[in-house]
Amino acid sequence: MASDPDCIFCKIVAGELPARKIDEDDRTITFMDINPGTHGHALVIPKEHSKDLLEIGPDDLAAVVQAAQRLARRMPEALGAEGVNLINSCGSVAWQTVFHFHMHVMPRYSYDTVRLPWTPGGGGERLDQAAEALRA
Ligand code: 5GP
Ligand code: ZN
Repeated sequence: MASDPDCIFCKIVAGELPARKIDEDDRTITFMDINPGTHGHALVIPKEHSKDLLEIGPDDLAAVVQAAQRLARRMPEALGAEGVNLINSCGSVAWQTVFHFHMHVMPRYSYDTVRLPWTPGGGGERLDQAAEALRA
C-alpha cells in the first residue's frame, strides 16, 4: 500500500501518531479533526496515500464518500446536528494544508459560526465561457 514517510495522515494510518478514531473499514479510517470548526468535526481518509482529489483512485474515493455518509447519518442523533457539510480542499490555493486526501465531515448547527466562503454572483458571459471550457 502506498505510504509517504513524511505524511502525518500516513503516520496516523500506521499507528505512529495518535488519533481519536471513530470508524474504520478496509480502505478508510475516520478520526476527529484535531482543530475542529464545529462540535464533532471529523476527517475521513483513505489508508493508502494519495495527495489530493486529482490523484486518488475511484475505489478509494468511493469508499471515503461512503464512510462520510455513514458518519453524517449518525450526526443528528449522536450530536444534535441539524445539517452536515462535506468539504474537500484540493491544492494550497483551495486551502489544502495536509497533502493526503481527506474529506471533512462537519456537523452544522443553527448556532454555529461557519459562513459561506464565497460571495455568490458574477455569472453572465463568463458563465458561458466556463461551461464551454469545462464541458466533457
Ligand atoms: P485541510 O486544511 O488540508 O483541508 O485540512 C487538514 C485538517 O487536518 C485541518 O482541519 C487540521 O485541523 C487537521 N489536522 C492537521 N494535523 C492533524 C493531526 O495531527 N491530527 C488530526 N486529528 N487532525 C489534524
Ligand atoms: Zn499520507
